[in-house]
Amino acid sequence: MVNFVGVTEHNAWKSESWTERGEKAQLSADFASWHPTVRSIVEAIDEPFRWALFARAPLENWSVGRVTLLGDACHPMLPYLSQGAVMAIEDGYVLARCLQARGADLPAALRLYETLRLARTTKVQAGARAAGARFHLADPLVRLATFGRLSLGSRLAPARAMAANDWLMGYDATAQVA
Ligand SMILES: Cc1cc2nc3c(=O)[nH]c(=O)nc-3n(C[C@H](O)[C@H](O)[C@H](O)COP(=O)(O)OP(=O)(O)OC[C@H]3O[C@@H](n4cnc5c(N)ncnc54)[C@H](O)[C@@H]3O)c2cc1C
Repeated sequence: MVNFVGVTEHNAWKSESWTERGEKAQLSADFASWHPTVRSIVEAIDEPFRWALFARAPLENWSVGRVTLLGDACHPMLPYLSQGAVMAIEDGYVLARCLQARGADLPAALRLYETLRLARTTKVQAGARAAGARFHLADPLVRLATFGRLSLGSRLAPARAMAANDWLMGYDATAQVA
């Protein structure tokens, strides 16, 4: 079984639904100029679904008294860094450690959790939004300049190019609560 998710840009989106059916003809048209492998996946789909992607501004806080949030409920993000589930898992780990360390004072434990996680998830939300803008650059010249530089950089200095993601991939959730 293959799960195919494709993104196309539109200026207006009116429907509020997670279960809206799409048109197969529209899907084929949207990906008509893509590589044959992608087209063959698209053609094999019996029934596509469609939904919108919305960027949300970070919340200022997640907790009220003895109640808090984690995951998409408090920091939904665009998919362009593939980090939504990762952030929810990190939240869960850090929250558990905060409860373990400060559970006797629940509001204090939740405040600590929020303090430890808010800056990180806010940065990742912003990073995902920036990656979306980069992935969908309209101007071919700007695309060439952007991806040409990235491609050259990763060939000339691969370690340095990889290190650009250290802020994201190098985070250690297990080291956040002493
Ligand atoms: C197509 C796609 C690809 C993705 N790829 C990646 C990826 O590669 N890497 C990555 O890290 N993230 C990815 N994500 C994002 C990731 O799936 C989400 O960020 C993650 O699932 C958020 O977890 P969550 O527990 O916060 O929320 P959810 O997984 O949405 O869980 C919330 C749960 O609450 C339930 N619920 C809602 N309302 C109620 C109610 N009133 N009563 C009871 N239950 C309720 C829902 O049914 C759901 O099961 C992807 C998302 C999509 C859509």
